[in-house]
Amino acid sequence: MVYVQNKLGQPLMPTENHRKVRLLLKHGLAVVVGRTPFTIRLTTKSKAYVQPIILGVDAGSKTIGLSASTEQKELFAAEVMPRNDVVNNLATRRECRRARRNRKTRYRKPRFQNRVHSKQKGWLAPSVEVKIQEHITAICRICRLLPVGKVVVETGEFDLQLLKAVADGKPVPQGEDYQKGEMYGHYNVRQYVLHRDGYTCQCCGHKNGKLHVHHKESRKVGGNAPDNLVTLCEVCHKKFHKGLITDLKLKKRSRVSTRDAAFMGIMRKTLLERLHKELNIPVAETKGYVTKCTRETMFKLPKSRTNDAFAIAQGKHGFGINSVVFLPQTNRLYQVKPVRHHNRQLHKATILKGGTRKSNQVPKYVKGFRLFDKVSYHGQECFIWGRRSMGSFLLKLLDGTKVKDGVSYKKLKLLERSSNYLVA
Ligand SMILES: [Zn+2]
Ligand SMILES: [Zn+2]
Repeated sequence: MVYVQNKLGQPLMPTENHRKVRLLLKHGLAVVVGRTPFTIRLTTKSKAYVQPIILGVDAGSKTIGLSASTEQKELFAAEVMPRNDVVNNLATRRECRRARRNRKTRYRKPRFQNRVHSKQKGWLAPSVEVKIQEHITAICRICRLLPVGKVVVETGEFDLQLLKAVADGKPVPQGEDYQKGEMYGHYNVRQYVLHRDGYTCQCCGHKNGKLHVHHKESRKVGGNAPDNLVTLCEVCHKKFHKGLITDLKLKKRSRVSTRDAAFMGIMRKTLLERLHKELNIPVAETKGYVTKCTRETMFKLPKSRTNDAFAIAQGKHGFGINSVVFLPQTNRLYQVKPVRHHNRQLHKATILKGGTRKSNQVPKYVKGFRLFDKVSYHGQECFIWGRRSMGSFLLKLLDGTKVKDGVSYKKLKLLERSSNYLVA
């Protein structure tokens, strides 16, 4: 499939007539504007012939499924892997700043009243914000590739109360209790945890004395959810962190993290709001069970992110097919991975003799290659995942499989310059 733009860069219908594309390029009637997916731009005026295209989006926290199709066939399918490193990156930043506060650095004016919550309305955690942005960017990019007429988004709705109750093996809260949640009426999480544990040490059963609230998983990994916290007396807590108590109960949280489910709940409303604002084509919403029904009864397709997206586009809120049909799907599944190019740490911690600070990163270009460039190595397409100033590189595929480390620049051929969204 070759994607086509008109003279002004607006998308036209794609073509599978590769011979025609070759001739157009040969005679200078078109130029190549993108390698993956292969996109050409016509250099002369052309008549726009557009069929209705609907883009189906299976929103998600770990993988986003995207599929654009007409009523006859699928034109484009892709899987986007959103960034999941933001939480860790922010933790690193926090640690860098914490360390810097005790160092002698240049004077900075004191700052105050600078908390995001008080400044911006509708603030979301950076890890959520980045994922919403990636959904929108991915959709916008496809709208530049194909003349999409409508976007249908499937957003999952998770019943957190139900999930928690099932995981704990407790009855599902009913009526008023359902809305209140487990922590209702408590001043804060710490107080709730102490109350839940009956103000007794969960290790030795001691009641009197100073009580601590211990994080089973570190606060960075496990967070401040009540199921990650447990009451311990001062003595037991000290012993535990010295390694004298090795109770597995105090190390493993009782319930698996509901982070992804919680994320979908937070994201849903904002994503749809922003899509309505940023796209000037209709945006519709659909539900998981509608998609599942379309995929299984109409197409008889196995579950996958892109098959779901395909069913979303064809289903009730898209083209609305209502009979069993066979529609050809694309044989090319694009993988998209958003990346960042920089480290938080700019300089090496130890200053060299003579007071020069050594950069923590090698120069942007090493022998003409930069990080995340797509290169060909022995005929295989891979990405530069690491570079050394001497001119040797670490090569990986998009899913993280290592191709080879320490490859000389002489053996590489540049295919595509890196960008914020890697496509393979
Ligand atoms: Zn104790
Ligand atoms: Zn602790």
